[in-house]
Amino acid sequence: MTATLPVASAVENPWRNAQRQFDEAAALVGLDPGLRAVLREVKRQLIVNFPVKMDDGSVRMFEGYRVQHNVARGPAKGGIRYHLGVTLDEVKALAMWMTWKCAIAGLPFGGAKGGVIVDPKRLSLGELERLTRRYATEISIVIGPERDIPAPDVNTTPAVMAWIMDTVSMEAGFSVPAVVTGKPISVGGSQGRSTATGRGVMFVALEACRRLGRSPQGSTVSVQGFGNAGAVAAQLMAEQGFTICAVSDSTGGIYKPDGLDVAAVVAHKQRTGSVVGFAGAQEVSGAEVLEVPVDVLVPAALENQITAENASRIKASLILEAANGPVTPDADSMLLARGVTVVPDVVANAGGVTVSYFEWVQDLQSFFWDEAQINSQLEKIMTRAFNDTWDMAHEHGVSLRNGAYFVAIDRVAEATLARGIYP
Ligand code: NAD
Repeated sequence: MTATLPVASAVENPWRNAQRQFDEAAALVGLDPGLRAVLREVKRQLIVNFPVKMDDGSVRMFEGYRVQHNVARGPAKGGIRYHLGVTLDEVKALAMWMTWKCAIAGLPFGGAKGGVIVDPKRLSLGELERLTRRYATEISIVIGPERDIPAPDVNTTPAVMAWIMDTVSMEAGFSVPAVVTGKPISVGGSQGRSTATGRGVMFVALEACRRLGRSPQGSTVSVQGFGNAGAVAAQLMAEQGFTICAVSDSTGGIYKPDGLDVAAVVAHKQRTGSVVGFAGAQEVSGAEVLEVPVDVLVPAALENQITAENASRIKASLILEAANGPVTPDADSMLLARGVTVVPDVVANAGGVTVSYFEWVQDLQSFFWDEAQINSQLEKIMTRAFNDTWDMAHEHGVSLRNGAYFVAIDRVAEATLARGIYP
């Protein structure tokens, strides 16, 4: 298999960026040096190399990871990514961001993340299932409902979660639904989970507009990445009156200044596998989708998309980080200097883990809620997380990212201090 790594990932190291973001906030908040040393490292990192039998009878080795950054506030929680660009450093960064995200949302979880270096689109369904089951077995020594609960991330789906749940259950000898979230409803999944991340982005968009004194009506939006997070955010934001002018996926972008019919773009992508070729829209490059003249930019693909190289060309005055780590620290400073409001990933995309938390609670209690209940609890948590961040940032005169880190570090530090150092 030929591996083409995303160019940006080769330049920017997400783990160094995550540590830089933490260091900046920790210095501003005057965090105790001992706590700072603990929180800037991951607690546990597991590297697994494992064989998978391919359809042609050959055996291929794959490398995967599971990293737990911190478990002071509860079991570790975080998704699993299947991508050729996965590295241990990327997984470490994503695990650290999960710790902050869960703390800001007030969820009783620490942070974790997993990944396998693979392009799942080049595997048959059978190969994908065998890879998933073997990876699940390899990481089963660290995951579990009270220990570490995976969920979907880039290129992993409810079906992948069902295979993980089944593998762990077969090994246990009984069903263990609470070992993963983002499962199909039939095996203990939650109503509203598949749309939770995008719905959370929409709630944050509304709240950010309210605080900035803007109206969604008449606000134009560009969305990079048209998957679980981006496509749902685009659809739900359009329902709230935002005009979605541009969207992209890994194959390219489309632009229509007076607004795209988002539901029709979703149908087009379902039919053709790409947003490109959508009737009535201009074809633009992936890079241009970030730079079109809009009010709101929603990066919802991968990390390191807005860098020092292109930050000065971004026209949006509000950026909602639906993806994890899409804006590098250098770009962040440039955007802040220009007065661009960046709602950080640890707030903007917390909707997914919030409904994952609801799913875990429902599985543990074997008592399931209806979608209206899920969505209204999600709205409460997202609105509170955004406003805690906004208030903290304005109280201290810092960026929303630092405001979010202040809230998170405070909560994680409090739990760490309350528990003390064992032994
Ligand atoms: P996904 O696999 O469903 O979708 C990813 C999308 O990004 C696809 O449309 C893909 O074509 C597109 N993409 C990839 N590279 C691109 C590029 N260079 N330019 C434009 N588009 C590109 O993944 P997802 O679950 O939607 O995750 C996207 C981001 O959101 C990730 O950063 C992920 O960590 C974050 N996130 C997801 C969830 C969740 O619940 N799914 C929760 C929180 C954060």
